[in-house]
Amino acid sequence: MRLTRYFLPVLKENPAEAQIVSHRYMLRAGMIKQQAAGIYSWLPLGLRVLNRIQQIVHEEQERAGHIPLLMPTLQPADLWRESGRYDDYGQEMLRIKDRQDREMLYGPTNEEMITDIFRSHVNSYKDLPLTLYHIQWKFRDEMRPRFGVMRGREFLMKDGYNFDVDKASALHAYNRHMVSYLRTYERMGLTAIPMRADSGPIGGDDTHEFLVLASTGESEVFFDSAVTELKLGNREVDYDNRDEVAAVCKEFTTLYARTDETHDAALFDAIPEERRKVARGIEVGQIFYFGTKYSESMGATVVTADGSKVPVEMGSHGIGVSRLLGAIIEASHDDKGIIWPEGVTPFPVGIVNLKQGDAAADAACDSLYKALAAKGLEALYDDRDERAGAKFATMDLIGLPWRITVGPRGLANGVVELTSRRTGVSEEMAPEAAVARIAEIYAGI
Ligand code: ATP
Ligand code: MG
Repeated sequence: MRLTRYFLPVLKENPAEAQIVSHRYMLRAGMIKQQAAGIYSWLPLGLRVLNRIQQIVHEEQERAGHIPLLMPTLQPADLWRESGRYDDYGQEMLRIKDRQDREMLYGPTNEEMITDIFRSHVNSYKDLPLTLYHIQWKFRDEMRPRFGVMRGREFLMKDGYNFDVDKASALHAYNRHMVSYLRTYERMGLTAIPMRADSGPIGGDDTHEFLVLASTGESEVFFDSAVTELKLGNREVDYDNRDEVAAVCKEFTTLYARTDETHDAALFDAIPEERRKVARGIEVGQIFYFGTKYSESMGATVVTADGSKVPVEMGSHGIGVSRLLGAIIEASHDDKGIIWPEGVTPFPVGIVNLKQGDAAADAACDSLYKALAAKGLEALYDDRDERAGAKFATMDLIGLPWRITVGPRGLANGVVELTSRRTGVSEEMAPEAAVARIAEIYAGI
């Protein structure tokens, strides 16, 4: 993409309404525009990152054997009357009437609708296990929308629902989600720690929230610092192997890590003092086993192998897709701007032409651009007639992890400069070598 043909409305001034760094940088980098409290347009650069995040979520869900579908944003109120949540949900639910005076709502979540789909089509244990998910916009009329996409009213969520014949199978689905989430967040360059959370009236050890540590996080968290060292990495996990999946979950949930709702001071004090940490975190996901809560009230049953009819066992599992942009920026930035991890960056590399209009520099940039494209890498080429300083400032603000700088002086010696946004370290090399290096970096991503 050539910058002169793109739509990147960067702001020079710090927007006064933004209280935290991610919100400020998303506005300044021209990623989002607020349309109403907690409701945003996604401008081209923001949309690219949102799409990258969705792609990673889809890939990891499908790797775990979960099946995508798409449910609507608007739902009939009657479904929610069946579960009893229409009245319980309160003012967070946006209620709408259509022209026939039928009561509708903009979905804040989809347990009822997915249960309805299930009961319409499935009635035998032979069709289980089944996990269906979608990535869809939600609306919650939050009391205090703030921090940009971090706490919006309209926001994008991945929500998945497992259906299983018995509790042991449903707990395997829970564990499978935990492992797939760990891999999802790691691919986005994040450390998201599964923490025991409050399961509300259902009780038990059956919900975890995933938290990204950040001083601006809304949740207070308590953990053993050793938990931040755990990594899933590239290990192959067989998602059908219950013991293997459970062992990974055990590895990630044995060290103390809890939100304030479940915090236990006595257990916390047993951790060696230097590893005892109290911090703040951003909730980027939550997994939940809730058994037959919805299947019983909505009549979603299956016939088991011995011929008896039982309510299906369920759980629901959410990832805050749009919130993740904010969380990633909170975790990865400096005073010049965003530093995108390679996994989610809007463009893999930027090209800065130091002397637009110089025949050699223009030609070198064009051929770099084409060579990168030939390797499947779309560069953002700053071809504006601007000072070098302004071009660097834009690149630093929008946070592409790699920059290739091209100027007449370097070209006279046959080199361009490759710079890492994260370390600031620059290296001179032949243009072909820069292309090869970038291709190598992105090969495994
Ligand atoms: P919170 O406690 O932050 O209000 P929640 O526990 O009500 O969130 P869930 O129902 O668990 O949210 O939704 C799944 C995920 O969706 C959350 O983990 C979070 O990442 C994201 N999410 C929830 N509410 C919002 C919001 N208002 N704006 C953006 N993302 C949100
Ligand atoms: Mg939650």
